[in-house]
Amino acid sequence: MFDNVLIANRGEIALRIQRACRELGLKTVAVYSEADADARYVRLADEALCIGPASPAQSYLNRAAILFAAHVSGAQAIHPGYGFLSENADFAAEIEAAGLVFIGPDAQTIRTMGDKVAAKRAMRAARVPCVPGPDGGLSDDPTEILRVAEEIGYPVIVKAAGGGGGRGMRVVLGADQLLDAVSVTREEARRAFGKPELYMEKFLEHPRHVEIQVLCDTHGNALWLGSRDCSLQRRHQKVLEEAPAPGIDAGLIRQVGERCVQACRQTRYRGVGTFEFLYENGQFYFIEMNTRLQVEHPVTEMTSGIDIVREQIRVAQGHALSIRQSDIRTLGHSLECRINAEDPFTFMPCPGRVAVWELPGGNGVRIDSHMTGSALVPPYYDSLIAKIITHGATRDEALARMRVALSEVRVEGIRTNVPLHQAVLDDDAFRAGEVDIHHLERWLANRKQT
Ligand code: ADP
Repeated sequence: MFDNVLIANRGEIALRIQRACRELGLKTVAVYSEADADARYVRLADEALCIGPASPAQSYLNRAAILFAAHVSGAQAIHPGYGFLSENADFAAEIEAAGLVFIGPDAQTIRTMGDKVAAKRAMRAARVPCVPGPDGGLSDDPTEILRVAEEIGYPVIVKAAGGGGGRGMRVVLGADQLLDAVSVTREEARRAFGKPELYMEKFLEHPRHVEIQVLCDTHGNALWLGSRDCSLQRRHQKVLEEAPAPGIDAGLIRQVGERCVQACRQTRYRGVGTFEFLYENGQFYFIEMNTRLQVEHPVTEMTSGIDIVREQIRVAQGHALSIRQSDIRTLGHSLECRINAEDPFTFMPCPGRVAVWELPGGNGVRIDSHMTGSALVPPYYDSLIAKIITHGATRDEALARMRVALSEVRVEGIRTNVPLHQAVLDDDAFRAGEVDIHHLERWLANRKQT
């Protein structure tokens, strides 16, 4: 049990976590870099400690400084948020070794899920459907590599076991390109992730990105909270998300959800997590598990009525989940637009000082943002400055609310991607639902030509 939580993150998620802690009556410790000294959540925290200069390596990724801040402030638990150290198994292990609570799964689980080959093997063992391809890593032997690809059938994708952030993978269309692609990807994996291990699987050509949110306590209870569709991506980065995933048979989603919680029980998973799938031709294929809170968690909160961050903190305190699977209903539809400080056409980040900051509100509109009227968007971090989330009885109602909400946004001093979201909401294919993961890039390419 703990009553003082250090939040090892910044931006909107630092405020989101702080709010959940305060609702639970817990004290909060904000840690911040010199660039974030004036942030609202720093001011609102019970205690705030500067952990270093602006550069992430010296502040938000500085494990020793964060642990020291926990020690000095008397915090008994650390919430890592998303990004930064949230999926760093060594950090989780250090926190536990210091006698503190890491608000997330144990270090070994983070390590296993961070290794995509090990994760896939664990999921196959739990009968979670995976992308066709062998469970193990790729051999060094050229004949064997060619044989594996032949068996899977082209196109195949060669991926780094330790890869992340959409890097360390290569699509191969035919045998003539395979061996070169394997050696380039191996070298890249060695350099970028410090681990040359690769694996190979079938390349799916028109999948959607559909994910399942899970929530597990330490008493053997595991729940799945519905599906999300995050197919609208640019360079593997999600732009707009929704819940539930439109147009997929509820019975099929239930089957997959049940497999996910079964896998959680088998691995004694603790906390919140997301099973990411590609969905094509009526089939789900597991690609990876994220062992942390995700940016897009609010759309699930809006449709399930469950406060995911609050439950995450409570299970870390050792409480048993009070909800049962049969209590969980998906009500209506929710959309989330990620508002970034960036040019809506070139996608160049646009840091700077905000001059005007007017955000929408009203029935079915939720704003998650740490920004204020004169806040500074520093150039050192991710450009996410707000999330606009809408909820409606139907997808059309949530879309209509989003359109009105975006029309009310007035931000001056910096550029944002609001015009991009507005244009996407007017796209007929998106409005119809069920677009694949390449849709946004195709749409952007057409936009350039016209
Ligand atoms: P990362 O951890 O780098 O995000 P993922 O394994 O989640 O890597 O894959 C990122 C993205 O790459 C997916 O969302 C999808 O767009 C694409 N991708 C990955 N595996 C496949 C596959 N087998 N077929 C088609 N696309 C894939």
